[in-house]
Amino acid sequence: MPERKPGFTTRMLTTPYVKKDPFNALHMPVYETVAYDFETAEDIAAAFQDRKPAHAYSRSTNPSVEHLESKIIYATGARAALALSSGMAAIANAILALVKPGENILSSPNLFGHTYGLFSKTLHELGIETRFCKLLDPAGLKKYIDENTRLIFFETVTNPQLEVVNIAELVKLARKHKILVMADSTLTPINVFSAKAFGVDVEIMSSTKFISGGATSVGGIIVDTGINDWSTLPILSAYHEKKGEMAFIAKLRKEIFRHLGSCMSPRTAQLQSMGLDILALRVERSFTNCLKLAEFLGDHPVIKKVSYPGMPGSEYYELSKKQFNGVPGTILCFDLSSVETCFAFMNKLRIIRRATNMNDNKSLIIHPWSTIYSEYTESLRLKMEVRETMLRLSVGIEDIDDLTADLEQALK
Ligand SMILES: *Cc1c(COP(=O)(O)O)cnc(C)c1O
Repeated sequence: MPERKPGFTTRMLTTPYVKKDPFNALHMPVYETVAYDFETAEDIAAAFQDRKPAHAYSRSTNPSVEHLESKIIYATGARAALALSSGMAAIANAILALVKPGENILSSPNLFGHTYGLFSKTLHELGIETRFCKLLDPAGLKKYIDENTRLIFFETVTNPQLEVVNIAELVKLARKHKILVMADSTLTPINVFSAKAFGVDVEIMSSTKFISGGATSVGGIIVDTGINDWSTLPILSAYHEKKGEMAFIAKLRKEIFRHLGSCMSPRTAQLQSMGLDILALRVERSFTNCLKLAEFLGDHPVIKKVSYPGMPGSEYYELSKKQFNGVPGTILCFDLSSVETCFAFMNKLRIIRRATNMNDNKSLIIHPWSTIYSEYTESLRLKMEVRETMLRLSVGIEDIDDLTADLEQALK
């Protein structure tokens, strides 16, 4: 009989340590240390020459960070995972490991604001071009692809537009043209979305959001899903010769990640390991709250428009069920009549906090037009489908009656 695979939360609570803890600590301790002592000169030489895996210096690897990576691998069934200092570090490192100057990537312009900045400014200045296009229409993408196109980057649910691409179609197109697919799955946590099941080559996420366990720490994760054996990508050929299917993660660890100093702190790794233990519980509660608030707002006479892809009636409802087990994150957006009404409404809220960030245990609201996107011209904001009447609500785990009462009194 095949052995039964434990469920997500059980796996998070039973992920084995790489090495037995000398005190049998039940929580992986915070290994706040820079370097590690070796018994002999031969041992330290073997570690540096990759002949005997060992921690040597915490910018490269650290036991607490390694444990978080083990949990991500156990959670996702991935080949390898790398924890980094932030979600932005994860995106930048992953792309720099796979794309060279002179090459290009495809992405929707509807992106997390700083990812848009990374693509349109920083990577652009480094000679990597982003071809902004409509990923919602995979059939129309062919004209953007040439021999220098390396990958398609997409967000599982775009923020704040809350669009959902058809991942299976995108992957099919990418396979046909021999290009990679990289997903930013920040909004759809690993207990509801499997990038590997959809054939995505590389998954990145900002662990600052759901994984941190309630906005405790900034971090990011790169996941090699195991879909690609990395045998055909010229940029990885030297690593493929030495490390086989570990080529992508090896290039990150030996070059980009190490040289850019993008490491996660051991303290953050412990907080985020604990965040994973109760991830499924928090997601379930936020989701139930989010759905109820979407219904409540949808029925409210002063609300012009509510979007939440998990809501029956959303154009993305069926796709959300297929791709995210019906849980397309816990962010919803709605429109009031003007900027002034948005501000007045926000100022009346007592429980929901005025803050950026998402997937905290606390519910957070922001007016994207005047904050996250305020650096961009009006026409660009409109092109990105950010409206001045739009509010973004990240729904937390408070008691639902208190959240509805808070919205109700602020809408009066
Ligand atoms: C927050 C976020 C990021 C960036 O993550 P940081 O941890 O803040 O660097 C990237 N993508 C999405 C979708 C995000 O929400």
